[in-house]
Amino acid sequence: MGSITLKQVTKNFDEVNVIKPLDLEIRDGEFIVFVGPSGCGKSTLLRMIAGLEDTTSGNIDIDGQDATSTPPAKRGLAMVFQSYALYPHMSVRNNIAFPLKRAKVPAAEIEQKIASAAKILNLGDYLDRKPGQLSGGQRQRVAIGRAIVRQPSAFLFDEPLSNLDASLRVNMRLEISELHKSLKTTMIYVTHDQVEAMTMADRIAVFNAGIIEQVGTPLELYQYPVNRFVAGFIGSPK
Ligand code: ADP
Ligand code: MG
Repeated sequence: MGSITLKQVTKNFDEVNVIKPLDLEIRDGEFIVFVGPSGCGKSTLLRMIAGLEDTTSGNIDIDGQDATSTPPAKRGLAMVFQSYALYPHMSVRNNIAFPLKRAKVPAAEIEQKIASAAKILNLGDYLDRKPGQLSGGQRQRVAIGRAIVRQPSAFLFDEPLSNLDASLRVNMRLEISELHKSLKTTMIYVTHDQVEAMTMADRIAVFNAGIIEQVGTPLELYQYPVNRFVAGFIGSPK
């Protein structure tokens, strides 16, 4: 499970329209990347999917059910932020356990889930450290670990690697791609980085000022960009 359908979704902030009526079908299990210049509405749309931001109009279905008014905690999605959003005073173990404790998951099951996430993300040696004692890449792994243990039907990433230096970014990109291959869970990944989009995506949605110009596989966008904006953004020769 993990299909998400946007139907004529719009967003206004006060009088300003930042998302124009937008339709998009995100398929169960796909890795879809939202790419586009800064300020074009990528984060706003992701936050609306997560339920962190209301829609002004339109509908969002999750797994075929209308979830437009469903509170974030009940959508079965997990968001991973650029800023990690870890609790600085808690150990890695407790940061990862926090959403599970809140959901009253039994302690033994929490331990099992933490062990499994730590293995996937190579965090076994760091479970008792505080976030301040970790590198940027390790902190991002903890944030992903906290999402994994909730077994969401989709992961929502908002520029998760933009605080990391270039070489680490390449490593983490591969790790997230590997994670997608092993979990086969829907991932929506927001970035303004064309290389990230082209290398990670099953499909890319190219945003421009509140609309999606084109949705397609990296190859489709490269070979058949619908307009100059897409061609310019993707780096296609046309
Ligand atoms: P992106 O993630 O693509 O850089 P955003 O979704 O953050 O773009 O922003 C889209 C537009 O909406 C921008 O013009 C931004 O200034 C505006 N915006 C975003 N959040 C708010 C807010 N809470 N209040 C008012 N305007 C906002
Ligand atoms: Mg953004």
